Amino acid sequence: MTNYTPTIGLEIHAELNTKSKMFCGCKNDPFNSEANSNTCPACLGLPGAMPVINQQAVESVIKVGKAVGGEIAKTTKWDRKNYNYPDLPKGYQISQYDLPLVKGGHLEIFKSQISTSNQIPNLNFQTSKNQELRTKIRITRIHLEEDTGKLLHPTGSNYSLIDYNRSGVPLMELVTEPDTTNGQEASEFAKKFQQLLRHLEVADADMEKGMMRVEVNISLSEIKNSDTSEVAGRLLRGERGEKLGTKVEIKNLNSFKSVEKAIDFEINRQTELLEKGEKIIQETRGWDDNKEVTFSQRVKETENDYRYFLEPDLPPLSFSQDYIDSITIDKLPDNITAELVENYGLKEDDAKILTLNKQKLKLFEESRKEVKAKESELASFIINKSPKTKEEIIEHFMSRENLLKHEDLVVIVNKIVQENQEIVEKIKNGKIEAKQALVGLVMRETQGKASGEIVKSIIEKIIK
Ligand SMILES: [Zn+2]
Repeated sequence: MTNYTPTIGLEIHAELNTKSKMFCGCKNDPFNSEANSNTCPACLGLPGAMPVINQQAVESVIKVGKAVGGEIAKTTKWDRKNYNYPDLPKGYQISQYDLPLVKGGHLEIFKSQISTSNQIPNLNFQTSKNQELRTKIRITRIHLEEDTGKLLHPTGSNYSLIDYNRSGVPLMELVTEPDTTNGQEASEFAKKFQQLLRHLEVADADMEKGMMRVEVNISLSEIKNSDTSEVAGRLLRGERGEKLGTKVEIKNLNSFKSVEKAIDFEINRQTELLEKGEKIIQETRGWDDNKEVTFSQRVKETENDYRYFLEPDLPPLSFSQDYIDSITIDKLPDNITAELVENYGLKEDDAKILTLNKQKLKLFEESRKEVKAKESELASFIINKSPKTKEEIIEHFMSRENLLKHEDLVVIVNKIVQENQEIVEKIKNGKIEAKQALVGLVMRETQGKASGEIVKSIIEKIIK
């Protein structure tokens, strides 16, 4: 029998949240400004305009490189990637071809399930949550380039509009090794990368707004063997087939769901073609979110089509080790989560929520030493009731410590009810608001060491 194993590589573009654009001083704000208001001769591609490198953007990519354990280049340079499109006023994009800022590194994700296009009978590849294995997705490179303008096509019009506010926005591109084996893993990798960018505060990476865009390369290779258990073993080890198949690219996926669905659709599409004996065409395909299918866009350009050459208007960059060392990063999300679980006994899910929300994490750390409650209770309170300040948290736990025991409170409420029968009568006659007077008397008697809501419920039980 023939089994096909997918080889999937990812390319992720993310706009950096620097103050200004990549090669000019224009404001980096492609979403909130009036169209074409953040432009200048450099980002409009006017002749004679000279680019200047944005240091903040370079340092942002170095931070990401450090976070994924990549090698930061000592020397890097800029190259022109030439192509014509209305959203690219210069006719070329300044990018990095063969000397990227970062090489190597990885991100760790949970290996969800082994994917084969032909499921092998009697072998269950599904792993339960407890059996999930972590796997490293290797990163090939991360480089820096500039974004294009944005084309708008007003409905019903026979013309298009261009907004150049996005032209020249710093764009980071990450390329992975083909280590993901199905849609779910690819989507998880993209999520993990988004979390990292947000944690490092270098990008907002909102996929719906196009701030982060995912492209995938997929090919299927054959594993020919009649022994199903041997095939299963090879697939489990993530081995590729004998001969790599033809690569298809899917562009501009702008949600995690579409990353997952497009990959799984494409694996099935290619499997069906191969089983019918047809050939896979090397091409770029798009993803239709409504129909949930990929569709052919164009035959893939080769690298030669871009005629890369050294950018003559920008100097190469050299970094000293001292400079690289001076760019520091916060503790990484995975480490924070692990410490919260190990040191304070937090549930893994709670620890992850705190890790992803810097404000809540700060509240947890600030109030931890001042509150006598268990750290897990403190975390749960911060996550579920959403207190805004440390004082609010301390007050909550302090008042809880000082509250009277329930049975003592019941005795006091009974006494107040006995002593104030005229108010009780009013309540029984329908004067609901009189209940508040009784609550007030109890609160005075307990000197505030009771919850008003609980007092009210005790009163209601006694009087009913
Ligand atoms: Zn500009």
